[in-house]
Amino acid sequence: MLNENYHRKYCVQCSKEIRGRADKKFCNEICRNQFHNKQKAPVNNLVRNINSVLGRNRGILEELLRTTDLKARVPIELLSRKGFRFTYFTHIKTTKKGEPGYYCYDLGYTLVSEDYCRILYEPLLE
Ligand SMILES: [Zn+2]
Repeated sequence: MLNENYHRKYCVQCSKEIRGRADKKFCNEICRNQFHNKQKAPVNNLVRNINSVLGRNRGILEELLRTTDLKARVPIELLSRKGFRFTYFTHIKTTKKGEPGYYCYDLGYTLVSEDYCRILYEPLLE
């Protein structure tokens, strides 16, 4: 004789008993969505946090461009002081001088010496 509890199924999200098809995992769509949202939360948070850093970096470059121009040497220390995070960028594009340009979307920078960089603007992606 099989134990009756053996056949009982419980919602993966809210633990309520499920009635209906044997392969059902959730009591309803709300529980299914809540469960999947919960599963995706860590990666969603990671993406949101990285996007936020990239957006802030871009904002700093944009702000600097308002007070300087694309030919000017900008102290790297100034970017640091504004909270620029150098390890976050969207892509690298080599400048005409063959140096790596580190971009946050359309704005970036390239090092011109140990202490100075130049701001780059490249609106189009190839
Ligand atoms: Zn449920």
